[in-house]
Amino acid sequence: MSQSDITSVLVEHRRFPPSAAFSKQAHIKSMAQYKKMYAESIKKPEVFFGRVAKELHWFKPWKKVLEWKEPFAKWFVGAKTNLSYNCLDRHANSARRNKIALIWEGEPVDEAHISHTRNISYDSLLRQTCQFANVLKSLGVKKGDRVMIYMPMIPEAAFAMLACARIGAVHSVIFGGFSAEAVKDRIQDCGASAVITADGGYRRGSVIELKKNVDAAVAQCPTIKNVIVVKRTGQPVHMESGRDHWWHELQQNASYECKAEPMDSEDPLFILYTSGSTGKPKGILHTTGGYMVGSYLTTKYVFDLKEDDTYWCTADIGWVTGHTYTLYGALLNGATSLIYEGAPNHPGPDRLWQIIDKFGVTIFYTAPTAIRAFIKWGEQHVLKHSLKSLRLLGTVGEPINPEAWMWYHTVIGKKRCPIVDTWWQTETGAAMLTPLPGVTPTKPGTATLPFFGVDIAVVNKEGKEVPPNVGGLLVIRKPWPSMLRGIYGDPERYKKQYWSEIKGFYFTGDGARRDKDGYFWVMGRIDDVVNVAGHRLGTMEVESALVGHIKVAEAAVVARPDDLRGQALVAFVTLKTGQTPGDALKDELRAHVGKEIGSLAKPDAADIRFTDSLPKTRSGKIMRRLLREIASGGEVKGDTTTLEDFSILAKLRTDED
Ligand code: ATP
Ligand code: MG
Repeated sequence: MSQSDITSVLVEHRRFPPSAAFSKQAHIKSMAQYKKMYAESIKKPEVFFGRVAKELHWFKPWKKVLEWKEPFAKWFVGAKTNLSYNCLDRHANSARRNKIALIWEGEPVDEAHISHTRNISYDSLLRQTCQFANVLKSLGVKKGDRVMIYMPMIPEAAFAMLACARIGAVHSVIFGGFSAEAVKDRIQDCGASAVITADGGYRRGSVIELKKNVDAAVAQCPTIKNVIVVKRTGQPVHMESGRDHWWHELQQNASYECKAEPMDSEDPLFILYTSGSTGKPKGILHTTGGYMVGSYLTTKYVFDLKEDDTYWCTADIGWVTGHTYTLYGALLNGATSLIYEGAPNHPGPDRLWQIIDKFGVTIFYTAPTAIRAFIKWGEQHVLKHSLKSLRLLGTVGEPINPEAWMWYHTVIGKKRCPIVDTWWQTETGAAMLTPLPGVTPTKPGTATLPFFGVDIAVVNKEGKEVPPNVGGLLVIRKPWPSMLRGIYGDPERYKKQYWSEIKGFYFTGDGARRDKDGYFWVMGRIDDVVNVAGHRLGTMEVESALVGHIKVAEAAVVARPDDLRGQALVAFVTLKTGQTPGDALKDELRAHVGKEIGSLAKPDAADIRFTDSLPKTRSGKIMRRLLREIASGGEVKGDTTTLEDFSILAKLRTDED
């Protein structure tokens, strides 16, 4: 065994092939078809991606599809295009002109349970984007300038992103839940000249004071010349004269026409910061042509997107999933994409299910953290709604525990909808491991097989592939169109972070194993691997055993130093609503883990800790590095700028005393 090998203890035999009816109507219908296309995409990426790219509009063709000088890739070299043109004009000038591009549902509901809804057609989305692009131009924003977008999930956020892309300004979206401090850090890191925000945003019935946070941040950011403010909540805000402008006032004199700037394929498109699960967030840079092709192609095939679908990716536009799948990928395909402004449990825990029935959503894509919350709240909230329109489900963000997958499959999908578990990263720009819904038999807990053009492998420290079912390092061996082009302003960190761990390969930071069918099972972060009784275990497998217990909603497992054993497991466990913690349950959980994966992975009773919630990033990922510090009895020293709720840390510390 190499020292980087990870022992796999999770056994999963359930298998769910797509129904014949689903396969028949799907874009890709058979494993043979997938394999043929995949082989071409790997052996002749220039031919494969050159053909795909021709489905989109280019002002000037490329001279070369790919130029690879490790670790720097260029795709569609010499070509000119524009992402906003491809998302909008292409459809607005076609029979899709009056098709709904965006359905927006606001969070607040009145006494009659009526919410505010907006339906925006492709033609109207083009006009409103152009109008705002003209506003940006009138303020002197030009190609290459960095523009921060710190907004609630309202259509103006989409106009803002598309307007930046239209004039060639580089957007950097910051999730609307972040603090002034995080906004300041990001503005300073990328040297932005403008911020687009709102007076406030609605979240679970209360108002988040976005403008106030911007004021505090911008006070320390001399590069900011303009702040544009959408009026959403209407509470009074400070407007700094000369710097701050109301969106609705500026747009009054702006025309509805704005030519899309021909952008070089390798011109920067956006900078987006990673979630910060493993440390300080990294400012990931994506460019135009390759990202466009990657988001277009994955959205089409992974979600089997059709003309009449009503597609809902619940990710906030502040995350890469919101960029690629709520917005760009959907619009590139001429789809109807739903955006919802608020929280899943406002005014009640069934809001999402009510929205699905209200709009007849056919494709629903969310995250394991959300699924575990639904499980915790209880299925009675789901069962009030029919969900009959759904035909496909998706998940992304963390490994999904098999029992959570089964719940999603049964309670939401009614055993009828294929589930696409998509593994990817801010850095990869688009889905990398994923089932194709009409093709791939799924198994709970695996993101299955690579997407087209993705040469991915599980290797040891020496870069050699490990045998089936042995865990190792997840790496990518060839460049792909939507890959990151760097960490903004820091080429050295880019090389060190991704290209130095294993020579010649991109290192993802994740651990994984491949089963006998070639499916990839992501086992968690390499940094989080725990060492017990001479075995290195991935956190996902032990956590999944705990989540497999009928009373458990969510679990996080970390290691603490132990005098006798070197390291011991500590399990933080959240129970389903209505369950009571106690010593008897600790014994039950230990017995359950022993039965599911063996006594090696059984935490001591004193190391099982019940908690109402776990520390998570604002994108909803468990921050095990903080739990590790707590479990070791130390102070939390790591970067906490992306932590969702500080009170959880304090609570976990007091629980210990
Ligand atoms: P940071 O890089 O700052 O630590 P992060 O890695 O959480 O933050 P993201 O780019 O948002 O930031 O997340 C990508 C990571 O999320 C992947 O590397 C992987 O660990 C996890 N992930 C995403 N989707 C899946 C999935 N379907 N299955 C397993 N893990 C997933
Ligand atoms: Mg990461």
